[in-house]
Formats: sequence, C-alpha cells, structure tokens
Amino acid sequence: MVRLKEQKHMSDKAAGISQTVNDWNLKQWMKAALAIAEEGVRHGENPFGAAIYRSDGEQVAVAHNTARSANNPSAHAEINAIAAACKQLGKRDLSGCWLATTAEPCPMCLSATALAGIRHIAFGANQVVVSEAGYGGLGINGRELAKLFSCDIDMRGSVLGNDCIALLLRNRKRERSA
Ligand SMILES: [Zn+2]
Repeated sequence: MVRLKEQKHMSDKAAGISQTVNDWNLKQWMKAALAIAEEGVRHGENPFGAAIYRSDGEQVAVAHNTARSANNPSAHAEINAIAAACKQLGKRDLSGCWLATTAEPCPMCLSATALAGIRHIAFGANQVVVSEAGYGGLGINGRELAKLFSCDIDMRGSVLGNDCIALLLRNRKRERSA
C-alpha cells in the first residue's frame, strides 16, 4: 500500500517532463517489451510484448499477448500492459507514461492507449511486418489512425526495429499453428 501511494505521487510529478526521454531510454524500454514477448512465446502465446514506463524511466508494467491462453482476441500485449499499469498505479489515467510495444499498435490498442491518457508510443515492427508474419489485424496503419484522433499522439517507429521484426518472423502464425 505504501509503495503504491509513493508511486502515484512520483507519477504525477513526472507527468510534465517527457521531453527528457531519449533514444537510449526507448531502446531500454523496448528491450523489456521484447523480453516479455519472448516469455510469452515460451508459453505458447503470440509474439507480442508491451511495456509502460513513466517518463522518468521507472517501469510501471510489462505484459505479453495472452490471446491464445485466454481464448480472448482482445488480450493483446498493449491492452494487458495498460490494465496492469492502471492496477499498479491505482488509477485509470496513465498521462505522462510511455508505451513501448514490439509492433505497431492495432486500432483497438491504439484507441485504448489514447483513452488511458498515454500520448507517447514507441513501436518496433510496423503493420506491414505484422501482416507478413500472419497476424493480419484490420489492415489499418496506426500512424494514420492516430491522425484522426482529437488528441495528439506521438508515435515513433523502428525502435529496435530489427529485433522486433526478427521476433515476429521467427514466430510466424502459420508455422506455430502447424
Ligand atoms: Zn492490439
């Protein structure tokens, strides 16, 4: 309980300093997303991972996709990470946090991220690679969809892009379901 209260206070304090986040931060955060994605793959899940960090570099939550084990098509890594982060911080608003995700968010995850108040997203592999790996989604480019939102979303692609692409292509859908 004490730990949660302290984190809420620090999160509020950190909300205004996202400009201090640099490429090194994003790569470290993506490494965490990749690591949890690999853990998911070892448990038979689809190869996607996400991490939520405060802009001061403190990790709030990491999660992998659990759509297979949960028989839940909405159990994407980003959705799971947002739920875990909100639980951890004891609030629904993740303003000031960053989302690092191994693949460009689908429309559902992009919308959930925006609704959670997150305005900064770093992703690794883009939607073209996601489709190539057999995880088609709805064919909507997240960066284009974000432009339609009433809020500004800062999206940075190709963060550890080669590693994220390799993860997807190593775990193509058709090979795993064979
Ligand atoms: Zn998604």
